[in-house]
Amino acid sequence: MARIEYLFKVLKKYLNNTEKQCPFCKGGGFSLIGKKYFLLQLLKCNTCKLMFRYPTEEISENIKFYQSEYKEGMTTKLPDESEFQECLNTCFSNTEKDFSEKIKIIKLFKSNGKVLDFGCSWGYEALQLQNNGFDVTGFEISKSRTDFGKNKLGLTILDDYSLLHSIKDESFDIVFSNHVLEHLPSLYSIFEMFYRLLNRNGYLIIFVPNCSGIEKHEVFNAKKSYAFGEKHTMAFDNLFFKQNLSRYGFEVKCTSSPYDINNLFNKEESPYDTEYSELFVLCRKVS
Ligand SMILES: [Zn+2]
Repeated sequence: MARIEYLFKVLKKYLNNTEKQCPFCKGGGFSLIGKKYFLLQLLKCNTCKLMFRYPTEEISENIKFYQSEYKEGMTTKLPDESEFQECLNTCFSNTEKDFSEKIKIIKLFKSNGKVLDFGCSWGYEALQLQNNGFDVTGFEISKSRTDFGKNKLGLTILDDYSLLHSIKDESFDIVFSNHVLEHLPSLYSIFEMFYRLLNRNGYLIIFVPNCSGIEKHEVFNAKKSYAFGEKHTMAFDNLFFKQNLSRYGFEVKCTSSPYDINNLFNKEESPYDTEYSELFVLCRKVS
């Protein structure tokens, strides 16, 4: 959506007095962390410490946005036949969708097993996981990207939350979510579902933009920030995951890019920076 159209939509929400409610814990006390384009706010929940964009949006608005309006490089642009063959021939190397480093990280914890790729787009990472010995089921709300992954890549991809909810308990060894959570309209009940779907000692593996220490960032420039905007509804720091996910029965570890594969969790975590860094969250189901 053009920015101006989006800002009109946001303005309408203000006029309608859209309720301020935390999209994770449903709490109602907040601090203002940042502002963007006069109308967008980054709020931090006083209860669970989630940072989220206000105004928030409904699930139906979010699903509509991800059908056709969302544009993000190779994530949303379906490759034509020659681009597609090139991706297959080169295993996506030299593209923004080369997942070899992330697959090496995943293999430190599980070398095979059943994976749910939550927010799999057209299947570029699911395919690479499959080629590395994993049995992958994808989940994606965009119908066109789901169809491409199913028809061209032969993947199993679910395209509706009701299908995810109908999967039986403890069906997966890994739930993998790569740059997806920061796009969701709500986190309410999502971690319960991931917990339910995982086997005991299974892993929830999350990659999101790193917003750890954003409040301390001296030159926090909200306009240029990747922390929040039309696409990014939430901003995550390591403390949010450590504080909240352990309550579900997960053992939680966090680190940030650049990754030292031999020393993942013993290096010092990078703080938020305006250029970009990534947060890696590893949650093992222990109880
Ligand atoms: Zn909250």
